[in-house]
Amino acid sequence: MGKPTGFIEYLREVAAEVSPGDRVGNWDEFHLHMPEEKLRTQAARCMDCGTPFCHTGTTIKGMASGCPINNLIPEWNDLIYRGLWQEALDRLHKTNNFPEFTGRVCPAPCEGSCVLGITNPPVTIKNIEYSIIEKGWEEDWVKPEPPAIRTGKKVAVIGSGPAGLAAAAQLNKAGHWVTVYERADRPGGLLMYGIPNMKLDKEKIVLRRLKVLEAEGVKFVCNTEVGKDLPAENLLKEFDAVVLATGATKPRDLPIEGRDLKGIHFAMEFLSANTQAILDQNQNGNGNGNGKVAGETRFLEETGVLNPVKYPYISAEGKDVVIIGGGDTGTDCVGTSIRHGCNSVVQVEILPKPPLERAADNPWPEWPKVYKMDYGQEEAAAKFGSDPRVYLNTATKFEGDENGHVKAVHTVQVEWAKDAQGRFIPKQIPGTERVIPTQLVLLAMGFLGPEQPLLDALGCDRDARSNVKAEYGKYATSIPGVFAAGDCRRGQSLVVWAINEGRGVARECDRFLMGHTDLPA
Ligand code: FAD
Repeated sequence: MGKPTGFIEYLREVAAEVSPGDRVGNWDEFHLHMPEEKLRTQAARCMDCGTPFCHTGTTIKGMASGCPINNLIPEWNDLIYRGLWQEALDRLHKTNNFPEFTGRVCPAPCEGSCVLGITNPPVTIKNIEYSIIEKGWEEDWVKPEPPAIRTGKKVAVIGSGPAGLAAAAQLNKAGHWVTVYERADRPGGLLMYGIPNMKLDKEKIVLRRLKVLEAEGVKFVCNTEVGKDLPAENLLKEFDAVVLATGATKPRDLPIEGRDLKGIHFAMEFLSANTQAILDQNQNGNGNGNGKVAGETRFLEETGVLNPVKYPYISAEGKDVVIIGGGDTGTDCVGTSIRHGCNSVVQVEILPKPPLERAADNPWPEWPKVYKMDYGQEEAAAKFGSDPRVYLNTATKFEGDENGHVKAVHTVQVEWAKDAQGRFIPKQIPGTERVIPTQLVLLAMGFLGPEQPLLDALGCDRDARSNVKAEYGKYATSIPGVFAAGDCRRGQSLVVWAINEGRGVARECDRFLMGHTDLPA
């Protein structure tokens, strides 16, 4: 600990962001750098606790707390206080292959577990992580490091989200030849086509890392859906091991009256097409289908306006948008709709509003689930004057016009009560019905595990939630030589958990191939 009294002397500060009113005019990232001197004093607030819950990734009541990839947070805080940036970057890369992703999008369970948080606001860990890695890129300290020796073993990774990428990075480091198959036209999984550009820039940030992986020897094959374009059994014959990292991309539907009307879409159709249009427009129409990491491109050119004719996407321009689901995917739909120039936006959420402070039954250091205005809600508040979320409400019916297009959503308030089996269920409250006019409905109600055809083709066992059955920490599926990691194994989760599992599956796969492993978990 560089400064034992830092936590007494300095108050918590977080990095500024582009103001909600300004940032909605473009698709640029809204994160801003914190000045180095300020980062130093923020890092000095770290108490270097005997048991640093921020990095231990402990489990309390079955819930994880702290950093799932065990980032060496007190160590790099100390190094930043002492101005040793390159050493801090080395420490960061020891546990995290992609700190530029987590430094932007992670909900930071580390901060929720910070011991200082018992009495004071926690250390600004996420901003410090972001700054260490960005300084690393600026100073050209992040360089491809191909392995010195190749083992001659070949591994296929199916899916190029953070789990697949972390697995590929680690397996390549161990000297295996890694090929990543991706059905989309660009690699990155939800880093590319889920999380919107203003939160995580595709061309500047995601591609920057993909290029390093490619230079290290990882091969990307895009536009290839394994099980459809490429028979799964071919992979089993051609490769010494296979890692499934296909994500949990099956969306939860809302089978109520009027669901077939035009203008009702899954959130991911809306978000993916939007990002695709931005990227294709930047590449002047050349962005599709080369199956390679794209080269340097411009971003949204001068105007920041998309061309829906040339680059099709679902536009919210001028529409009253209703988003069903108040979670992170819904938030991304809010931010995207506002950038399109929607007329209004409402987010319907069936759960109650979270508490303003850590709930009494949520003991520290468990990650607190508290009410917060995320970026999309801040933008909606700046544009329309309030948080768009309507809690404890559910949609009961979609109403259409004479052209078969949605024109309204019927909602009703609910209360959560126990049924005869003692399970909490939402009960509708008569007399609270409401009709919300809309021309665009986005369904953002979570995901129901991985898509099944590839798993059927492989014949691997599923668990009760239809995820790939493979024990956490072991990652072996019911098929010898086939491993699974990330959302396809654990269900829809977080980028940081995908990295955790990607690293873990690489270790187990390496052990399977070589009989032993030196890769860290
Ligand atoms: P994915 O990222 O889903 O990648 C799986 C990939 O596999 C996909 O690219 C898919 O096309 C490919 N694939 C599937 N089947 C095949 C096949 N047969 N052949 C070839 N390729 C295939 N988490 C956070 O921590 N912070 C956030 O801010 C955040 N925002 C999110 C926003 C949205 C809209 C969504 C949906 C999720 C968000 N998440 C966020 C969750 C996070 O993105 C996921 O937990 C994480 O990406 C899971 O990683 P993964 O590698 O397991 O799967």
